[in-house]
Amino acid sequence: MTPNETLSLKCKHCGKETVFNQPYVYHAGFSDQGFLYNDAGTLSLVWNLFDPLLEELFPGERLWTQGRANRQRFEKLLQPAPAGGRWRFRNPARCMHCASPISGPMLKTVHYLVYPGSIVTDADQQLRLKDYLILPPDSSVLSPSKQGC
Ligand SMILES: [Zn+2]
Repeated sequence: MTPNETLSLKCKHCGKETVFNQPYVYHAGFSDQGFLYNDAGTLSLVWNLFDPLLEELFPGERLWTQGRANRQRFEKLLQPAPAGGRWRFRNPARCMHCASPISGPMLKTVHYLVYPGSIVTDADQQLRLKDYLILPPDSSVLSPSKQGC
């Protein structure tokens, strides 16, 4: 048990608290991480910017998230969130009680929240980003040059 490893954020709209499995609000820039929330805004998907999958998808493009087409391509490759809904770059984090936004998406803030049941592919090497794709990693989607074979 790690009783101090949770964070409570009080919603400015309804005044109720949402509890997160983290000691403080994480700063993605310090840990080279990217993150998305699902449509409901109550689950997080976190990845490491150096995940080998990203080099496969966007070779040499360290800042691939700045391209709209890249973002859409990435979103379409991902499986739906465990609780339903898609992972999208425009989704904010939301209050568990009234669904008001409580933290911005990756493109607007470097701070992120990890909801209970979230997918954090960075925390241990057992969880890799490629395990959450709709298509298998050897699919032609990942290697456009192989299409038509
Ligand atoms: Zn609320």
